[in-house]
Amino acid sequence: MSLNEFSLIKQFFTRQAQQSSVIKSVGDDCAILSVPHNQQLVVSMDTLVAGRHFPESATPYQIATRAFCTSVSDLAAMGATPLWFTLGLTLPSSDEQWLSQFSEGLFAAAKPFNMDLVGGDTTKGPLTITVQAHGVVEKNCALQRDAAQIGDRVFVSGYLGDGAAALALLQHKITASDELSDYLVSRFYSPVPQIALGQVIAPFTHAAIDISDGLLADAQHIADASQVSLVIDVDRLPIHPSLHDAMQKGMLGYERDAILSRALTGGDDYQLLFTVSESQLPAVNALIEDKLIHATEIGSVAANTDEQYTVQCAINGVPYSPSSLYRGYQHFTA
Ligand code: ADP
Ligand code: MG
Repeated sequence: MSLNEFSLIKQFFTRQAQQSSVIKSVGDDCAILSVPHNQQLVVSMDTLVAGRHFPESATPYQIATRAFCTSVSDLAAMGATPLWFTLGLTLPSSDEQWLSQFSEGLFAAAKPFNMDLVGGDTTKGPLTITVQAHGVVEKNCALQRDAAQIGDRVFVSGYLGDGAAALALLQHKITASDELSDYLVSRFYSPVPQIALGQVIAPFTHAAIDISDGLLADAQHIADASQVSLVIDVDRLPIHPSLHDAMQKGMLGYERDAILSRALTGGDDYQLLFTVSESQLPAVNALIEDKLIHATEIGSVAANTDEQYTVQCAINGVPYSPSSLYRGYQHFTA
């Protein structure tokens, strides 16, 4: 059955707000929100287009979690506390079953962060989902891309290359055991925004970014913004044990070059890349040893070469270039 715009919003996107900062939520011309005293608002928006950012075969639940998680990842990169989000929804039709699963996925993804949906816009057209995430940071404490300094160490959270391996799996370029498939597909549709990690590392970190377009591409953003160069030690890249295992077994598609190239250039990992000064290194290493964060040191920040801000890769000091076979993130376009 199809619903009109207003009953659709009421039925699927109107929920009791959790945050006391929400004065007025869905239903008026604007939401009214209080920004906590002495904090700054950080806002980010991401759009997912069907067939481009997710395969047409994705379920409504998966589409919702992916839209939410990828957007909230940007708040993590700033060290922010998430509060609210808005939703731009363009739908080919108002299919109740589709909407029910979509809203279930959306609110399930928002729950761990206590984020309230406070407004949005609903239109008819090709399936497109926009999530705008709002959070707060202590005044002047947001992590930014432009704060890396020469001599900093470069860290990355979690594992790299999962997103690209998941994409290869969804595109039937590789095969995997049921267990590995489940892991990769969940990494693609529900990449966990590294909110807790972002907040924990904030006091010890110079620059940070979330990895959406691939480690090298996003490291380059830090290099350009901070006017420095980065050196990445490729044999230190954190690879998930199951991917590592598949590589050891010599499974097709999991060759060493494929694994490393996907870890360096594949998109969709939504891990945090961050830099730490020598003096804060013991504090960050203690967080890692105490298992308060999962992060790995993978390189360092160096001086520029000829006013060029570069990101260089090496294995045991020997320059390494990722294979162009696996280079770059290809959306679902031909
Ligand atoms: P207006 O025409 O005044 O801009 P709308 O009719 O677009 O308002 O929306 C009515 C209310 O429903 C607003 O509070 C708006 O924020 C909210 N809203 C619209 N679409 C969505 C959605 N997909 N999710 C959540 N809230 C929505
Ligand atoms: Mg209005």
